[in-house]
Amino acid sequence: MDKRKLLICVLILCISIVMVPCTANAATTKTAATTKTSTTKAKKFVDLVPKVSVSVVDDANVVTWKAVKGAVGYRVYRKESKDAKYKRIKTIKKATTLKYKDVKAPSGAKCYYKVRAYQGLIFKTLSKPSKTKIVKAPLRVYVACGHGTDSLGHWDTGTTYKGMTEAGLMLPITKAAVKYLRDAGIWVYTDADTGNDMNMLACVAFANKKDISCYVSVHCDWYKAVSGTYPLYVSGEGQKLAQAMNDRVLSSLKMPTRGLKKRYDLFELNMTDAPACIFETGSIRYDNKIFRNKYNKYGYALAQGIKDYLGVE
Ligand SMILES: [Zn+2]
Repeated sequence: MDKRKLLICVLILCISIVMVPCTANAATTKTAATTKTSTTKAKKFVDLVPKVSVSVVDDANVVTWKAVKGAVGYRVYRKESKDAKYKRIKTIKKATTLKYKDVKAPSGAKCYYKVRAYQGLIFKTLSKPSKTKIVKAPLRVYVACGHGTDSLGHWDTGTTYKGMTEAGLMLPITKAAVKYLRDAGIWVYTDADTGNDMNMLACVAFANKKDISCYVSVHCDWYKAVSGTYPLYVSGEGQKLAQAMNDRVLSSLKMPTRGLKKRYDLFELNMTDAPACIFETGSIRYDNKIFRNKYNKYGYALAQGIKDYLGVE
């Protein structure tokens, strides 16, 4: 009996001795295999490709991307035509910032974007560029309501006639124009939203900070002026804009015109970076019925003219 027990014991021991290194060996092999797989999976930084998407939010193109492992920052590039060279428009110096709002994308332009991640603070290692992403920048315009608050902060009525004021008469027309432009998907900056609270210096300064396709200022002429529209411009593009609006107003409101006039002495024409037009909608004496009763139609006609100029359906 004892002999048999001893034999069983020896057998068990033998099996254990054989099994243990076997299992250990198996474990080692497994670990080695895992390490090998993870090294093939983890790409080098220079081979990583950021995943990018673009969209339009309000007046800007918004570029977003997924975090790239190991990145300390990102570079955003843009070009406006297929054959152009990419320009770096922004360097993001934070690993956690994964978004760039491009407010300077040219108004209405088809924009191409790429993003690269980088490592290193002085000597930069760049990831691969992302795939090209394309988005059309919003068309932006500035529509100013004539007068309102003057440069000293005082209320400026503009010209007046029998208790009527230019600022008061032009606000509903301007608001209507703004509404119809926005309905057409155009981004409009205006002082009409806030009740005509910006003087022309403030309007022009604001407009010049933006990338806009055109600048329009809505006015009416004094009581001694004859009936009819009188669009003012200085540049060639300004003339086209003035013509487009005048055509629409004449055909829609059946009113006379004094014709387009080139003027060299007006601030809103000379100081604006974008093509500009001061649209004199008519005489406060002879045309105020149209201003008061047909302000919506007038605003619609101006908006249609601006759309014609921009080539918007
Ligand atoms: Zn005026």
